[in-house]
Amino acid sequence: MKRRQFAALAAAPLALPAWATSPAFGPLTERFLEALWQLDPDAAVAAGRFEFAGRVTLPTAAQRERARSFCSDWLRRFEAVPEAQLSVSERMDRAIVIGKLRSDLWRLGELREWSWNPAEHNPAAALDLLLNTDYAPLPARLKALQPRVAALPAYYRAAQASLAGVTREHTELAIQQAPGVLAVLDDIAKRADEAGQAAAFKPRLAAARAAVNGYVAHLRQLKPTRGFRLGAALYEPKFRHDIQSARSARDTYELAQQRREEVLASMQAQAAQLWPTVMGSEPPPSDRFALIGRVIDKLSARHVARERFVDEIRAQIPQLEAWVRDHDLLSQDVSKPLAVRETPEYQRGVAGASIEAPGPYRPQDKTYYNVTPLDDLTPEEAESSLREYNHWILQILNIHEAIPGHYTQLVHANRSPSKVKALFGNGAMVEGWAVYGERMMIESGYGASPEMTLMWGKWHLRSVTNTVLDYSVHVLGMSEADALDLLVRQAFQTEREAKEKWRRVQLTSVQLTSYFSGYSEIFALREQLKARPGFSLKAFHEQFLGYGNAPVRLIAAEMLG
Ligand code: ZN
Ligand code: ZN
Repeated sequence: MKRRQFAALAAAPLALPAWATSPAFGPLTERFLEALWQLDPDAAVAAGRFEFAGRVTLPTAAQRERARSFCSDWLRRFEAVPEAQLSVSERMDRAIVIGKLRSDLWRLGELREWSWNPAEHNPAAALDLLLNTDYAPLPARLKALQPRVAALPAYYRAAQASLAGVTREHTELAIQQAPGVLAVLDDIAKRADEAGQAAAFKPRLAAARAAVNGYVAHLRQLKPTRGFRLGAALYEPKFRHDIQSARSARDTYELAQQRREEVLASMQAQAAQLWPTVMGSEPPPSDRFALIGRVIDKLSARHVARERFVDEIRAQIPQLEAWVRDHDLLSQDVSKPLAVRETPEYQRGVAGASIEAPGPYRPQDKTYYNVTPLDDLTPEEAESSLREYNHWILQILNIHEAIPGHYTQLVHANRSPSKVKALFGNGAMVEGWAVYGERMMIESGYGASPEMTLMWGKWHLRSVTNTVLDYSVHVLGMSEADALDLLVRQAFQTEREAKEKWRRVQLTSVQLTSYFSGYSEIFALREQLKARPGFSLKAFHEQFLGYGNAPVRLIAAEMLG
């Protein structure tokens, strides 16, 4: 078991050293996880526990009842553990497990998304994962897939029976996703053929395809009765469960509005300074958004050639590494290099660039920076993407995804041996760190120029605007036209990006606030600690990341003592 060492660990009164383990807590956590994998084999598989691959569960009322009593039972056991006997890391693990169980209970009893979101019932991800992960030779994987494919008719019957009062938007999403499910079944047929198992699969696959089509036919005749907006009554508790912030959703929204004003004022000053050199003798517009927008538009023409996109990202990683080292911002682990690669075909179609890290049960696997090349785009689409990820923003993207953003954070998190934090990590802490990392790099002088400051402003404004948008749409009833105006005219995004964001905010809630919420709490924590004597930026970063993917609220409580 590895131990983390901290230069400046707060002198809190602890019964045990910070990372020692109390004798009973570790085994309790292990028993909980094993019971969870029994209850939810799909979650087990997603976490890398492939021995659960052949086990099937169905989205039935009985399964939800089992989940409910599982959560209540384990909640009681974890609440009964006295905090005083635990190390700092264990106390956080306990809080995270309790938070997860309460959240699950709230989802089952109050949110009830399984009843109004038909896209919740989608078996494709688990099938795809088993088919395309090399955890065992193909014949063994196909053997695990057989009962899953055979169960699909029952799966969709249970899904159909779960639905009551759906939304139009989520119903359309489920219908749109059906061809993707059929495509995975086609892949299974192809691979079964290669492995000489076609006969065993044929009737099962035919019944499975019919079940997918039957679900779609059922969805087409459903009458949506529920609006896609979550509403204030569900939004606040969902925010509390998912984000785990010290602030309410309302306060976070108000803080984002305030930050938006600060960022726009700074961008306006940068744009005014750049105007004569970038735009020439034309008089600058008096409207703030027009002034900033025109300068950004002109500067965006500076970008890499389409075919150099992936290579350029690959070339920037060592430069970021060197900057972080030379400016003493954070320690890095040279034994865990980041492999930049083109996104594998079967994973394409979602994010353009993302970090793919092995789960806590697969520490031997590599961490990849997946970048989707622009090959499949039309010339116009490619140009639009390249202008978006222009000379400056491409660097900020790499800071966010890789160094010192997601990848660096992950390397630090993996040093603390907590499965709980790796499995149920706090999304706002993870995204907030990446957003904080962008600001911290700019503050350190990285790429110092008015152009970089302006472009970082645009990028940062995106996180801030995500929070404003999500709350405005789900709680304040913002219209589509106002949302698109907020994104395009007032946040300098392309029409295409804004339309995608509008779709995302209709289909998800709260997740879009995680970036700014996490960032604002990390930044506030740093500013508070900075005021103390002997503050070191590097020590702050190391200590903060050493706690793993815990909610910022809990980390802050420890670091502030
Ligand atoms: Zn161009
Ligand atoms: Zn991110």
